[in-house]
Amino acid sequence: MIRTKYIVIAAIVVVALLAGTAALTLMTPSTTAPSMTSEKIRVIATFFPMYDHTKNVGGDRVDVSILLPAGKEIHDWDPTPEQIRQVALAKVVVYNGAGLEPFIDRVLQAASPNVVAVEASKGIALLPLEEGGSDFHTWLDPILAKQQVLNIRDALISIDPAGKALYEKNAAEYLAKLDVLDAKIKNALAKTQKKEFVAFHEAFSYFAKRYGLTQHFLLEGLAEEPGPDDIIKVIDIVKKSDIKIIFFEPNLDPEALTKVTEAVPGIKTLPLDPIENPVDAVRLGKTYIGIMEENLNSLLLALE
Ligand SMILES: [Zn+2]
Repeated sequence: MIRTKYIVIAAIVVVALLAGTAALTLMTPSTTAPSMTSEKIRVIATFFPMYDHTKNVGGDRVDVSILLPAGKEIHDWDPTPEQIRQVALAKVVVYNGAGLEPFIDRVLQAASPNVVAVEASKGIALLPLEEGGSDFHTWLDPILAKQQVLNIRDALISIDPAGKALYEKNAAEYLAKLDVLDAKIKNALAKTQKKEFVAFHEAFSYFAKRYGLTQHFLLEGLAEEPGPDDIIKVIDIVKKSDIKIIFFEPNLDPEALTKVTEAVPGIKTLPLDPIENPVDAVRLGKTYIGIMEENLNSLLLALE
């Protein structure tokens, strides 16, 4: 009798402990996320900013990978048939759009017929490039990045309505962080004496417009190398505007800059990253916001 009672109590305790462990295991990643990797929404993002925005909104419900291989430059990259095949299992493809990814139609043709294609720049008013055509470097303006995040959020909700509350919560938190980034850049740049800077390539037009700066650049549009005219133009601007620092890109060969640095004694170089394919960004745990803050630090040194 007493013994039976103890056995029953012990059994109840064991069952409760097991149930508790099981519940904890399921709860570990997130209470609202699917518990198995295979249930996650497979997302392909064309390049790093789209990857980072999607991860921030999707959290544990999404499994995001980047189409652009490490070390490749988004402007002149063309996916191989094998790389395009990676897209076959994706439920969502997130791309910047505005003309950045001319290969996107071929990629989407290889995807499942039900794939949701998210053009993150949809609804954004585009600026012209100096050589003609539209400028697609929309992601470098944090306020336009917010529009991209909303487009990504809405697409995830449409394909996975069960995650709506999580996507809305995550997006709201991330948008608030982008607002903080915007305010930080705005306040810091409002105080600088100089307003002109020389970017390596014509990537920062939206950024410059947002923060009242004037962008000059060595490489126009999609050019891979500066022509003699470009170099003369930059040397002229640097001398006229008393520019002491010009920018290189961590992902590109800075050789073209040496023609300018040799011609202007004392001029220095700093990195300014267009976040087109930041080296090892995922492995190093870098973020869009973190790289934008690094860019701000470089700009502040150049504009002081
Ligand atoms: Zn670019």
